[in-house]
Formats: sequence, structure tokens, C-alpha cells
Amino acid sequence: MMASYKVDCRSNCKGNHDGQKDSFSCHQPVIVKSRPRKRYYVRYAIVPFEEDFTHEFKGHRNLCREDVPQRCYNPETGRSTRAPVSRALCAFLNTGKGGTVYLGITDDGSVKGIRLTLYQKDHVVLGLEDAFSRFNPPVPKHMWHLEFVPVVREGSPDLLKECSDDISAHSLNEPRRLKEHVFRTYEYCWCDKDALAQFNLGVLVSDYVIEITVHTFDSGDPRNGQMTKADLKLSPVYENEEGKAYFRRQASLFTHTVQEIVELTRQQVREHYQPIVDKLRTELYELRQGEDTQDGGVSAAT
Ligand SMILES: [Zn+2]
Repeated sequence: MMASYKVDCRSNCKGNHDGQKDSFSCHQPVIVKSRPRKRYYVRYAIVPFEEDFTHEFKGHRNLCREDVPQRCYNPETGRSTRAPVSRALCAFLNTGKGGTVYLGITDDGSVKGIRLTLYQKDHVVLGLEDAFSRFNPPVPKHMWHLEFVPVVREGSPDLLKECSDDISAHSLNEPRRLKEHVFRTYEYCWCDKDALAQFNLGVLVSDYVIEITVHTFDSGDPRNGQMTKADLKLSPVYENEEGKAYFRRQASLFTHTVQEIVELTRQQVREHYQPIVDKLRTELYELRQGEDTQDGGVSAAT
């Protein structure tokens, strides 16, 4: 199934863009290398962190299972050599601790970047919104943040200026930015064909690392009130568009069965109530001690 959307939903973005056209919320992501006003990665550099509980590297931008090219599937095993980004995002949501997926950094931590025109960047943002809308429950916008961080050659950070997007196309009303993109398919969208045409014409296009950050679940945030399990303020369990609930252990992903999730929830409930029960037991013990003392006093007096 394919889905298409227009770019106009971005006009509803509540993020603090702060003059940065590439930033889509007020969250401040991990700083890899910074200059006074703009962050960037150096091509082929190794980033100073590894894949772990909160960091995941991906060399592609296949957000959902339908985005994964057919050639990546092995018909004999029925498995794919490429995992959609949605799995890692689902796991970051289900740990409740959040995390960041870096698209354009390979498994060994090497910065390769992903070449993106302005229209392709629109596609990535809208494609991610589409993917999160298919999670169960859908992932609200305040739970995530996306940022395009430019990739430059070592020693030539001025390339940022050379590779800047076509300024005339930045307006949200620019006709092609209102054109519908096609999602949930590994086939080229119009924006990909346009990018190929630009490349063939020799137009310089920037490379980026796409940082997608899932925030830590905040039970005190009123926006999360309806998402918690009962009144316990526990992080909800999400299924991605494949109908699977992914979890994370160190740098690897795994799925739980429904029974395992039930047991996990029981454990969380126990952890939630145990301190309350312990406190009540202590109070009850102290009350009884007090009563015994009073009784003893009365007996002695009579
Ligand atoms: Zn597109």
C-alpha cells in the first residue's frame, strides 16, 4: 500500500525553529562537533560514540518495512539484510529512555552522509510522520525530533556555503514543496527522480546525517497523560508498522511476545506499588507499636 501526503502539515509544526530551517522541534540533540551557529559532521570521520542502549547507526533511510528494497530480502530465509529504521525507534520508545538513530553513519561509526535535496528532506520528515502514525498507539509529535546535520569534507567546512539548498525553494509555498510525496514503497518518489536529474546536471547537493531522536518518556508531562497505562504513569508499549513491539538490550533489538509484555507490565506494577506497600507496612507497624505501648501503660496503671 502506498500513501501520499502534502508538505503543508509542516506549517503546523510547533517546534522552536529558532531560525534554523532544518530543525523540527525545540529538542537539543547530542552535539558531535559544533561551530558557533551550526553543527556538522566530517565525512569519513569516526564519531566519538558507539552503538549502545541509546545510539543506533544506519547507512540508509528506509523508514518503514515497505521502504526496504526487494533485493534486500532473501527468499530462502524470508529475512532481510536491512532493517527498517522504525524498529530502532520502536525500541527507543519501549525502553522509555529514548535514544537517537543516526542515518548516514555506518555500523563502524564512520560518517558517510546521505545526499538530500530540499525536497527529499521534506520527504524524510513527512515519511517519518507517516511511519509514526502507523505505530500502535500512534507516536505524538512531542515525543520525537528530527534534525539534518550537514556533512563536510575534512578541512573545508566552508563547503556548507557551497552546498546550501536553493534559497529560492525555501518558501513553503514554493510549488514543488506542495507536491505530494509517495511513501510506503521502495520505488523512487518524484523528489528522488528530481535529485537524480539535478545530479546529472552537475548541481551540487549537500550530504547530511539525519538524526532522529525519541525523547525519554516523561510521566509528568500532561501531554503523556492519556498514553500511560492506567494511573500508574508507566511508559506505553508501542508496536511499529509491522505489528511488533521491539525492545532494546545494549545495542541489539529483540521482540517480546504478548505474554512477556504482560509479565513485564506486572513487574512494572510491582515496582510501582512495592515502595507504597512497604511504607504502609512501616506505618502500620509503628501504629501497632504505639498501641501496644499504650495498652502496656494502662495495664501497669490498673
Ligand atoms: Zn518524495
